Order: sequence, then C-alpha cells, then structure tokens
Amino acid sequence: VREKIRDLKKSFTQKYSSVKFLSEKDRKIILVTGDTGFVSSHLTDKLMMDGHKVTVMDNFFKGRKRNMEHWTSQENFELINLDQIYHLVSSASPPNYTYNPIKTLKTNTMRTLNMLGLAERAGARLFLASTSEVYGDPEGLLGPRKRVAEIMCYTCVKQKGVEVRVARIFNTFGPRMHMNDDRVVSNFILQALQGEPLMVYGSGSQTRALQNTILEFAQLIRKLIASGSEIQFLSEAQDDPQRRKRSLNKAIFYFWKELEYQVNNQHI
Ligand code: UDP
Repeated sequence: VREKIRDLKKSFTQKYSSVKFLSEKDRKIILVTGDTGFVSSHLTDKLMMDGHKVTVMDNFFKGRKRNMEHWTSQENFELINLDQIYHLVSSASPPNYTYNPIKTLKTNTMRTLNMLGLAERAGARLFLASTSEVYGDPEGLLGPRKRVAEIMCYTCVKQKGVEVRVARIFNTFGPRMHMNDDRVVSNFILQALQGEPLMVYGSGSQTRALQNTILEFAQLIRKLIASGSEIQFLSEAQDDPQRRKRSLNKAIFYFWKELEYQVNNQHI
C-alpha cells in the first residue's frame, strides 16, 4: 500500500509539474471566484495546466485550502482570502454618465449586484461609493439617479446579512482627474487658463458642496487665475439640482456642546 501511495504521489506531482508554457501574449489573467471546493478546484487545475495566470478568491467557508495546495508555490497562482471590496466603478461626471445611459444603468445595477453576490460568497465587506445625487433637489422629488445601487445594498444587508458601508460622495476634484472630465471645477479652471469664456449653465445661482454658488465659483476661479476670461451663461443643464450644499449645523452644534462640556467640567 505504501508503495502504491508513493507511486500515486509521484504521478500527481509529475502531472502538475508539466504546466504548459504560454507566451505573455497568449497567457490570460483569470479570476476564479467561489469556494475552493470541488468544481472550482478542477477548473483551476485545467486553467493552470494550460499555462494561465490564475487568481482564486475564497473565504474557505465550504471549500478547502487543501484542494489548491498543489498550486500555491507556483508564481502564476494566487489565492486570495477576500476581506473587503471597494466598489467605486460608476462615472461621476454628468455628461459622461448620460452619454451612454444603458451602460450607466448596467454599471449601477448589474455590476453592483454582482459585487454584492461576491461579497456574500466571500464573506467580505462591501464599500459602495454612492453619491450626493441621491438627495436630488431638496425642492423637488428625491433624486432617483443612482439610488438603486444603495437600495440593492440595503436589501442585501437585510436579506443576506452582507456587511455594507455606503459613502455619499459630494463633488470631487484634484490631481489625476481627467482633462475631459467635464465637471465644473475642471471646466472652469481649464477655460480660465486658456482665456476661454467660463460657461455657466443656467443662472449660476445653483449651489454645490464647494460652499459657493456656481456663479461665485466662476468669479473666484477667474480671480485666482487672473484670467481675462468672460463669464457666459448657457441654458440650464437637465435635472440639475439647484441646492446641494452640506449643512455645517450638526458640526457647529457638536463643537458648541463639546465646549460647553469643557467649560462646565473646569469648574468641578
Ligand atoms: N456647471 C457649469 N458649467 C460647467 C459644468 C457644470 O455651470 O462647465 C454647473 C452644473 O450645471 C451644476 C454644477 O456646475 O449646477 C456642478 O456640475 P458638475 O457637472 O460638476 O457636477 P454635479 O454636481 O452636477 O454632479
């Protein structure tokens, strides 16, 4: 029996050491999700034998690390025990996400569901980069733009126990932003730097988290850049929220309470 086992071990080692060599061009980078169980471990064997670069993602809940052990020393194999997913995939620029609405819908619905499914399987926590857009226009209806992704997350929390974090991100800008991003900060700065008119959509009285109206913001950029650009008014953008400024009241109240607490405790 001992001999038989030795032979089996030998043939096993030989089998998995004859990995096909693939050139960089033909070698695919492949992700296998799900448990390191029965089917996925055999699929991984096939893909590895064919010479691809394989990453396996698992929480080892049902699967067994042992099913993949014969690959762990190979440099084109990676085993990931996934803890957290940051789902930041959607575009934030209105001209970009309205350019191909089907793609935007797919991204916010199907891709979010897929990621939630992955989070559930892997027992990982999912972070969703949501948007201040969900607040919509305070004067109007609650904005439906992108709210669906949040609802999917909350439903998965409730029904499947997936751990989720949601951040509603306001207007972002800074280094590494695309030149053609087409949102207000990059547009105004580029226009001012090139001596072109700063294009304000609508009256410019709408506000954003920059804590200014858009018209004041255009004037500020012109001043900071000492640009001779004029300000031009175009027609209002579609569904453009008129008021979207964070309120600092809560923060002010918090610090006021903190100060009060400090003052009161000094007397004790
Ligand atoms: N806006 C503008 N000129 C531009 C780009 C944007 O006046 O070239 C206005 C736009 O109508 C909106 C605000 O600036 O009221 C912020 O728009 P942005 O596209 O940057 O982001 P949003 O906050 O609407 O997602």
